[in-house]
Amino acid sequence: MKELLGGKGANLAEMTKIGLPVPFGFTISTEACNAYYQADKNIPPDVQDQILQSLRILEEKTGKVLGDPERPLLVSVRSGAVFSMPGMMDTVLNLGMNDETVEGMARLTNNSRFAYDSYRRFIQMFSNVVLDVDVFFFEQLLEETRELKGYASDPELTAEDWKEVIEGYKKIVKKHTRKAFPQDPKEQLFYSINAVFNSWNNQRAIIYRRLNKIPGHLGTAVNIQSMVFGNMGPDSGTGVAFTRNPSTGEHQLYGEYLINAQGEDVVAGIRTPQPIHTLKTEMPDVYQQFVETCHLLEQHYKDMQDIEFTVERGILFILQTRNGKRTAQAAITIAVDMVKEGVIEKKEALLRVDPDQLNQLLHRRIDENYQRTQLAKGLPASPGAATGEVTFEADEAELLAKDGKKVILVRPETTPDDIHGIVAAQAVLTSRGGMTSHAAVVARGMGKACICGCEAIKIDLRAREFYVGETVVKEGDVITIDGATGEIMLGEIPMIDPELSEEFQVLLRWADETRKLGVRTNADNPEDTRKAREFGAEGIGLCRTEHMFMDPARVPIVQEMILAENYSERKEALVKLLPMQQGDFEGILEEMQGFPVTIRLLDPPLHEFMPEKEELIIETTMLRITSPGSAELKEKEQLLKKVRQLEEFNPMLGHRGCRLGMIHPEIYEMQAKAIFYAVARLAERGMEAKPEIMIPLVGHVNELKEMRKLVIDAANLVTEETGLNLTYSIGTMIEIPRAAITADQIAEEADFFSFGTNDLTQTTFGYSRDDAEGKFLQAYIENKILPENPFAVLDRDGVGKLVETGVQLGRKTKPQLKTGICGEHGGEKSSIEFCYQAGIDYVSCSPYRVPIARLAAAQATI
Ligand code: PEP
Ligand code: MG
Repeated sequence: MKELLGGKGANLAEMTKIGLPVPFGFTISTEACNAYYQADKNIPPDVQDQILQSLRILEEKTGKVLGDPERPLLVSVRSGAVFSMPGMMDTVLNLGMNDETVEGMARLTNNSRFAYDSYRRFIQMFSNVVLDVDVFFFEQLLEETRELKGYASDPELTAEDWKEVIEGYKKIVKKHTRKAFPQDPKEQLFYSINAVFNSWNNQRAIIYRRLNKIPGHLGTAVNIQSMVFGNMGPDSGTGVAFTRNPSTGEHQLYGEYLINAQGEDVVAGIRTPQPIHTLKTEMPDVYQQFVETCHLLEQHYKDMQDIEFTVERGILFILQTRNGKRTAQAAITIAVDMVKEGVIEKKEALLRVDPDQLNQLLHRRIDENYQRTQLAKGLPASPGAATGEVTFEADEAELLAKDGKKVILVRPETTPDDIHGIVAAQAVLTSRGGMTSHAAVVARGMGKACICGCEAIKIDLRAREFYVGETVVKEGDVITIDGATGEIMLGEIPMIDPELSEEFQVLLRWADETRKLGVRTNADNPEDTRKAREFGAEGIGLCRTEHMFMDPARVPIVQEMILAENYSERKEALVKLLPMQQGDFEGILEEMQGFPVTIRLLDPPLHEFMPEKEELIIETTMLRITSPGSAELKEKEQLLKKVRQLEEFNPMLGHRGCRLGMIHPEIYEMQAKAIFYAVARLAERGMEAKPEIMIPLVGHVNELKEMRKLVIDAANLVTEETGLNLTYSIGTMIEIPRAAITADQIAEEADFFSFGTNDLTQTTFGYSRDDAEGKFLQAYIENKILPENPFAVLDRDGVGKLVETGVQLGRKTKPQLKTGICGEHGGEKSSIEFCYQAGIDYVSCSPYRVPIARLAAAQATI
């Protein structure tokens, strides 16, 4: 019942049901939250009645009464959204404390110091969360008191001291709110419920939802639970643990705790806690019971759990459990292990890993062979390596990142208010806090490298520097951190390409057994082709031949071809280019032996191979002054003339794609011959290649008809010359709306279709793919005019409709017509799901996205 009770509420109910020691309480539903907003931020009277009724039941169960000095009930009021939003919303603890119940608590616990400390904590938290009084004022007073009394830390304050502090706190509240601190516990309760509802719409919660694509209409539930105390002495404590390592996935209890501390102390990262295994010696019985509980919870939820617990005078209470956030590596290891342990099925395991998360594992990491000089070492809280400039403020990190700088956010600890800085930074480094501190949890969730609790670094926020021994690292200095080992190094460190771990390969093999969609790659050189094969690509879906023209050594020859005044001059240049292209094709076809390779003939407008006009104007002007009449000047003038001839108002809608082949058939002829010569050369070496030749930007069947003839002629010519029987196919890209809606005609001339959804998106929306993002698209997405960037996530309603139409019409003419997609969408999970539903045969994406596509293709079929 997560939708209604929120994640936390549903899990508390579930844990109570399976008999775990959960403190009594009740949950106010997400429906109530929405009713609150509908009633203009008022709790409707019937909801108020239900809350009071549930409170009475809670009082009966616990035998305590809210506000009764003889048997005071204290409760926590916590948010609990449907999707976990760690630390983003508000919480109030120790509610029910007032001038009378505090005395009752002191008598009952026989510990007045504890009672008054709890009261002052409550005043501080309530005033901050509910009354909006800055914590700073309370901390300042506390610090003054400590100094005045000559204490070094809080535990030295006596009950009498706390009483004084409480009086001071009350004055602060009065001064800032012009009202006395509320003494009526029911009033406290309703104020707190309102505050938690309101925190659903605070700045950081909104940012977090936007980042994690959590809808804003869901609302939060509120959990009211009787308090248990981890700060009742040395036989009490509180902690957080994961049932498996959330960083690596290793099957071992992973967590930490603090003795004599309360709730938020661990998560806030203010004191560095102890690792969970030491609890085994400190409280053996509690540890044993905790281990059993962890096992029970994992078996019940069939997933790794993130558990909050408190020990009150030797008795264990479970405060919360949820599916733990984890890195991509951990997600894979846990999913694969759980199948081996018989906990879940393979199909479930495939759904447990988010394809987007895999990006983390497909990134470069520090070269192990490099001799590192470690500056300091902290806790390896989230793996990955990152290099960047040191910055100490979240706002600053955001500003620098906007300027395109890579930064590492260095803080004593992070709080939910730093979220925008963590988003902007490459990595996070903190000097305090453990593996479950805010920074660690958030960074892992985002797949960002993070080192926590690095006590060796001394941060001076005012001087904007940190030092380790003699070494001073200033703001702006470059450091590298390795989140997998916890090491911090000065400067930039060389990185290497990623490889797939064993578990990753197992998971991908399961994906291959499940998926129906083929996965190919977009590659145009042998190195990328090799990498893609390693990652499991089953062929090339798009080889963009223009990339072979852009090699600086070849550009002058390409320009020679463009500058040619007539056919024979152009032929001369093409004769020089042919062997170069042929060599490229040989390399690629060899790497992809046994798999199909789709080679696309030249696509971009010719001006892309020419120098910039502005540059040429400056150069010719200079030469006219310095070397009039020179050969160099003549050459530049000729270039400039050609550039002006090639100039177009809308080059992306201009003379490009097959329109080049139509007007300058000799270019396509050369390319086709180079492909077939490459096949012939490989055949001599005993290798078989079956290229698929693809004509770009076709809008009318007649274009394809012409180009098809041209390619067949080239093949026949090579056959005549070499005596080799060539096997090949000829197809087209569908990237113009007209091609999609006349696909039945186009299929007459095509052996296959490949949807070029980059251009198809551009031409369907009429948005320039080169300009739209910078100019207006970002604003469109922010203002929800468009749900997503259509150049990243395929627009199913518009572009998708054209793709479906293209597939259906094409197959009406040729039922067996092979179809693929080679736009950027071929490596994006939602678009891949769409392709599967549309009946496409394969997707093609860049080499590093091949594993993502394999998994997403499997998920699409489940
Ligand atoms: C496309 O348009 O989707 C495509 C793959 O071709 P290019 O990106 O090279 O225009
Ligand atoms: Mg295109």
